[in-house]
Amino acid sequence: MTQVVERVGGVAIGSRPLPSIRSAGTRPATARHGDAPPPGGPALPAPATIGAGHSPLVRFGIALRRLTLVTVIHLSLVFLPFVFFSWEMVAATVFTYCFLMIGMAGWMHRYFSHRTFRTSRAFQFVLAFWAGCGAQRGTLWWAAHHRRHHAFADTVDDPHTPTLLAFWRSHMVWIFEDAHQQSNYKWVRDLARYPELRFLDKWYWTPPIVYWTCFGLLGAWLGQARGIGAGAGAGAMLVWGPVLGTVLAWHATFCINSVTHMWGRRRYDTGDDSRNVSWLSWINFGEGWHNNHHYYPHSANLGFHWWQVDPAYYVILLAEKLGLIWDVKKAPSRAVEGQVRRAKPRPEHFERD
Ligand SMILES: [Zn+2]
Ligand SMILES: [Zn+2]
Repeated sequence: MTQVVERVGGVAIGSRPLPSIRSAGTRPATARHGDAPPPGGPALPAPATIGAGHSPLVRFGIALRRLTLVTVIHLSLVFLPFVFFSWEMVAATVFTYCFLMIGMAGWMHRYFSHRTFRTSRAFQFVLAFWAGCGAQRGTLWWAAHHRRHHAFADTVDDPHTPTLLAFWRSHMVWIFEDAHQQSNYKWVRDLARYPELRFLDKWYWTPPIVYWTCFGLLGAWLGQARGIGAGAGAGAMLVWGPVLGTVLAWHATFCINSVTHMWGRRRYDTGDDSRNVSWLSWINFGEGWHNNHHYYPHSANLGFHWWQVDPAYYVILLAEKLGLIWDVKKAPSRAVEGQVRRAKPRPEHFERD
């Protein structure tokens, strides 16, 4: 059986190179902004993540603050039975969950981490802000760690392998570990050259605060309209909307790092422990087809067949139809048939823009 080796970035060893996976910026016909880096890439500033360059004690304090905040958000769910309830609250939960999962699966993962389609610089910022509402740090931090995961999946250099770590450590504890606090620009030079993305990476709490504030105001208005008071309305809307929706979206996303490297079906030999978990794809917008994804991480579709439900991909196709994004990469038939030999994405592959 003839095999073709492919890499991200159009660099191929074998017969056919992939089309270039380019950075945000221009439609092919019209070069609208010319900020492509010079060969070799521009000199980038040091990672701007809060905590970079601080002493271990300060970094410990920052990690502890993050851990406390995440714990408080989880514990806030105890208020669910005691706050005002109406159909609007269920709608707030469903909307928040879908909004955040599209942000994580569609934008944070398939765009910023794998560059499986192209868009304008302005809409790229919208996607970064949208993805940031999920309160999983900025796009540079997320993509840097995710690319490293693909490059070293289930080895000691993988930031969150359940094969070598305990389940809960791979699920979410790794996020608070000192080794994983900074956004390593080495892995995301293609993204780090945009100052607006560096800004959102440093001030990563801005999108969630904006999102939560909007829901608080909506709840206050609803509370007054229902005669329960603005405070009670805002509290109920916050707990049912951003709190519950965010916690659900967190764990749906975290399951990719834990569950889909432990249980499920291995359709392709990927050299790691990635697995397809079909039921999870209904919940996390198609991310459950993780073995497919590790086998061929260059495509926007993680579901390789029509029956492999992949909601994030459907949203991507809709955005393409609306003209917001373009050059959507789809898994070729030789990949679906298992005839492509994998080449793990490395930082240099994303530098070739
Ligand atoms: Zn991935
Ligand atoms: Zn994985």
